[in-house]
Amino acid sequence: MTKVTVLESTPDEMLELTKVQSDDRCILTLYFPGDRDALEKAKCKLSELPNALLGQEGLTEDEQQHLDQSGQLWKTAVEETPLASAVGWVAVVSWVTEEVWLMKLPAAVEPAAYLDNSPYLLPAGRLLDDLESYAVVYADHTRATIYLAALGRIQEEGRLRGDIKNHVRKGGWSQQRYERRRDKEIHHYCVDIITKLRELMKSESIRRIALAGDRQLLRELENRMHVEMQKQVVCRMPMEGEKDPRDVFSETLAAAAAEEQREEAWLHNAIVNEHARGGKAVIGPQDTLAALHERRVRWLIVGELADVEFFRCGGCGEAGLGPAETCSKCGEETYPQSAANEFLDLAFAGRSRVEFAAGDLTDVQGVAALLRW
Ligand SMILES: [Zn+2]
Repeated sequence: MTKVTVLESTPDEMLELTKVQSDDRCILTLYFPGDRDALEKAKCKLSELPNALLGQEGLTEDEQQHLDQSGQLWKTAVEETPLASAVGWVAVVSWVTEEVWLMKLPAAVEPAAYLDNSPYLLPAGRLLDDLESYAVVYADHTRATIYLAALGRIQEEGRLRGDIKNHVRKGGWSQQRYERRRDKEIHHYCVDIITKLRELMKSESIRRIALAGDRQLLRELENRMHVEMQKQVVCRMPMEGEKDPRDVFSETLAAAAAEEQREEAWLHNAIVNEHARGGKAVIGPQDTLAALHERRVRWLIVGELADVEFFRCGGCGEAGLGPAETCSKCGEETYPQSAANEFLDLAFAGRSRVEFAAGDLTDVQGVAALLRW
């Protein structure tokens, strides 16, 4: 019986995927866009994807057999499972256990396939890091809408009415009473928005907030947030009139992405400084790998690692840095793997945070980490 699981791309669900492992190279990972037209344009049929992408790759006899079996399981899974709409997908197929996982991605991806002893989640991890979900409050004195911006789209999560009247000029006592009542109304309105926002951030594990709308109201709102929440505000965007949610999304997305770059630069610097003073940090593949094995890594920063070689032995499971050659333990031929993907797997297994670097990491040899101890 084929078991198909659709995942929502949370870190916990990523962890579940990284746990999928085998001794053989029998785990298939597929990337494809959510838009079927785009797939057809690439002359790919979803159910035929594994063979179309890997059929000509010069696989070994064993690998070919794994591909055939995975392909059949994939076909069944696709035919039996109606896919929800998403901009992009990553799928992991384990034919030995008859399991298929599908995880939504925040961007459209080109069709790609990988056959290995574990899922190839590096591209997925990078996308989810670069396009991290955030909350949007779009508000003026009349109404507020709270959105979740995640997985390449924006979705309404809550709506509140403020109905706060404009200032009026009357003068005298009635003016003061009026202003006091108005202040009170604004206060309650803001507190209600913050409560809803906090609920959303908790349920979706969100760290970033974009504020858009009436400048004055946004200031009132931010003043009433706790310091921790204020620190999570990544943009304040004055917007006049009623905007389409898609415009709110496109205008706030750049600010959220900029925050991601700031975070990467901060971490990179923190590691270099900590390492220079002999503190809790490691740099370079060798030391970082050792720290990952010891589960000492608090926060990993990793680049492409294109020129770092990593091998695994199908015979005895030995793995490590270095070129693929004859296994020193059992004498079988080892095969090359993506070093960055291995680091990612270990980081997830050790509950480390992962930052995928877009910038240059030459000064730390492509990979580094802040340590727990
Ligand atoms: Zn071996």
